[in-house]
Amino acid sequence: MNSENFALSEKMVPATYVRRAGQARRGHELLIRQLLEQGKCPAKGWSEATVELFLNELAVMDSNNFLGNCGVGEREGRVASAIVARRHYRLIHGLGRSGDVAAVQPKAAGSSLLNKLTNSLALDVLKMAGVRSVESCFVVPMATGMSLTLCFLTLRQRRPEARYIIWPRVDQKSCFKAMLTAGFVPVVVENAPEGDELRTDVEAVERQIRRLGAESVLCVHSTTSCFAPRAPDRLEELAVLCAKYDVPHIVNNAYGVQSSKCMHLIQEGARVGRVDAFVQSLDKNFLVPVGGAIVAGFDRAFVEEISGTYPGRASASPSLDLLVTLLTLGADGYRKLLADRKEVFALLTEELKKLACAHGERLLHTPHNPISLAVSLDGLGARRGDAVTRLGAMLFTRQVSGARVVPLDKEQTIGGHTFRGFMSHSESYPCPYLNAAAAVGITGEDVALCVKRLDKCLKTLRKEANGGQSCSPPLS
Ligand SMILES: *Cc1c(COP(=O)(O)O)cnc(C)c1O
Repeated sequence: MNSENFALSEKMVPATYVRRAGQARRGHELLIRQLLEQGKCPAKGWSEATVELFLNELAVMDSNNFLGNCGVGEREGRVASAIVARRHYRLIHGLGRSGDVAAVQPKAAGSSLLNKLTNSLALDVLKMAGVRSVESCFVVPMATGMSLTLCFLTLRQRRPEARYIIWPRVDQKSCFKAMLTAGFVPVVVENAPEGDELRTDVEAVERQIRRLGAESVLCVHSTTSCFAPRAPDRLEELAVLCAKYDVPHIVNNAYGVQSSKCMHLIQEGARVGRVDAFVQSLDKNFLVPVGGAIVAGFDRAFVEEISGTYPGRASASPSLDLLVTLLTLGADGYRKLLADRKEVFALLTEELKKLACAHGERLLHTPHNPISLAVSLDGLGARRGDAVTRLGAMLFTRQVSGARVVPLDKEQTIGGHTFRGFMSHSESYPCPYLNAAAAVGITGEDVALCVKRLDKCLKTLRKEANGGQSCSPPLS
C-alpha cells in the first residue's frame, strides 16, 4: 500500500492504527531499499513476510502480471496451472534475452532485477567466503558439469587451435564429461602419492604443456573440493604455470565455497598466477535444489564472454532459489552454517578415528582435504573385495547416504578413456577405503548415527570374515 491508500484506510480504521501499520510497512521497505542500494547480502536474514512482499513487488513489474497487458508474441509468460504460477511467484519470463543470459529483458523488469540482484549477492558471498578479489560472477541454470562445458566452449573462441585440456585426475564423471561434451581431448595427469594423500603432480602438468605445445592446450582444468584421499589441487603452483606458459586456467570448485581452505587456494592462485574462471555448484554450497551453478572470475570481460556464449534464455528458478535463500539466511546465517560445518568436520574426524581404531583400521591421514575423509578397509579378510562391496550395500540399506566405499582395481571407461582404479583417483591406491564427508548443513546427529550404523556393519562383516555366520540374512 502506498501513502494514498493508507490515508484512505483511515476512513475505516482509526488513524493511529493505520499510521502504526504504515510505519511497520516502512520497516520492510527499508530493508528492500538497503538491498537495492548496496546489492549485498543483508547481515541479518529477512522474515518470510519481507521476502514474499519483495517477490510480489518484483512479479508485478513483469508484463505477464500487468492488468492491461495484451500479448501477441510467441512467448508471453502464460502458464496454465496456478500451482506452477505460485511455485515461481508469478515470475514466468526467465532470464536474459535471446542470445545472452545476462541481458535485461524488456518484458520483464522484475525478473531482470532479480537476476542482477542475485548475481550481485552471489559475488558478495564469494568474497565473504574467501575469494576477496573476485571481480564478476553469474548464476547459470545448469549444474556444475555443464557450466564447466560452457567455460571451455567460451575459451575455444579465444584459442581456436587448442584441442587438449590438461586435467589432474579426479574420479568424478561429470567434470570429465564436461571436457568431452565441449569437444576436447582430456589429458589425464595422474596424482602423486604423498603419505596417504594424493596430490597434484605439478611437474607432470608442466611436461604435458611442453610436450603438446602451449597453443594447443585449451586450458588447465584443476579441482579444489574432492573425495579424500585426494587433496585439493596445488592451485598456486598450477596458476603460476598457467601464467608462465600463457595457458588459461579453469577451476572446478564444485563444493568448495563452503570451505575457507578451498576459497583461499583460489584467492592465492589468482594472486600469484592465473585463474580465469572458477565454477561452483548451487545445491552443494547453498542448500537449494539441484540445477544451478555460479561461474566467477577475475576479469569482468571474460566472465561476460562466458555468459554471452550461452544461447538463448534460461530458467530463473536457480537464481530465485539462491536469492530467497541468501535473503532468508543473511550473511550472518550463512557464516554460521560454514562455522558449524567446520566444527562437525572436526567431530567426524575424531569419531571416524576412534571407530577405525576399534576395528583395526585407520583414518587415512589427509590433512589437506577440508571436507572429505577416508577410512581404510584393509582387515575384511580373504574375500576383502566382496566384503567391501557388501559394506556399500549394507550402508545403503541402513539409510547411510553419501558414504562411499571404494574397492581396489575397479575399471571404468568414459568416452573411450579407461580409468584403472576408478573411484580412487589413482591407478594403484594401496587399500580399499570408505569415504564420508562433512558438507554444509550436516549435524552432529548425522555423525553420531552414521558412526553407530557403520560400527554395526563392520562388526557383522568381521564376524563373517572370521567364519561366523557366513550368510547372514539381509538387514531389514
Ligand atoms: C559435483 C561435482 C561435479 C559436478 O557435478 P554436477 O552434477 O554437474 O553438479 C564436478 N566435479 C566434482 C568434483 C563434483 O563434486
